[in-house]
Amino acid sequence: MCRHLAWLGRPRSVASLVLEPPSSLLVQSWAPRRQRYGTVNADGWGVGFFAPGRAEPVRWRSARPLWADPSFASVAPVLESGCVVAAVRSATVGMPLEESAAAPFTDGRWLLSHNGRVDRAALPPVRDAESTVDSALLAALVFSRGPDRLGDTVREVAAADPAARLNLLAADGTRLLATTWGDTLSALVTAEGTALASEPWDDDPAWTDVPDRSLVEVTPDGLTVTPLT
Ligand code: GLN
Repeated sequence: MCRHLAWLGRPRSVASLVLEPPSSLLVQSWAPRRQRYGTVNADGWGVGFFAPGRAEPVRWRSARPLWADPSFASVAPVLESGCVVAAVRSATVGMPLEESAAAPFTDGRWLLSHNGRVDRAALPPVRDAESTVDSALLAALVFSRGPDRLGDTVREVAAADPAARLNLLAADGTRLLATTWGDTLSALVTAEGTALASEPWDDDPAWTDVPDRSLVEVTPDGLTVTPLT
């Protein structure tokens, strides 16, 4: 995925996160402001979120550009959640173009998105990947190691593939975990909740940039950033 975001806090509409801000993921799908790799994110999109009374998240993904999905745009204003992960995709060269290659990937109560690339040959064998895309293999590895060990898994993969870019974003309904390793990530802490995003979706001066090679944890109590190296 080339641009992703997550929200943990007071329930809000998926549209207010993904479609409505001036530099929303929708706008980032054709005009990202801080993207270092790729120029448009038109190879699919995905939204995963937690709904009341369900332990496991629900997802809506597509292999089409986000701007080409008027049905999603019509429903998104009434989809409300306090924990959301969303992404728009710019496929890495050679990777499959299919819905199952779009983040967020899932396992049980976890959602996970990957902005970056990794040499698939450098990854240990994994089971139950949703697609052959590098990001799905990486997601399966993170799930098998345990998302609580996200920092260790990123260090392990980076050691096996020093050219890997490993910005990951995970959520289980009660907290967010993220890494920066080669690409941008910003955070917005408000009274209503906390957002993490590949780039700010508006010009609010409260957005802060997360340093490269960091592990981020967001809980209802706030945000912590730990160096990864
Ligand atoms: N490598 C992933 C893919 O092909 C993610 C690409 C990206 O972050 N631009 O989908």
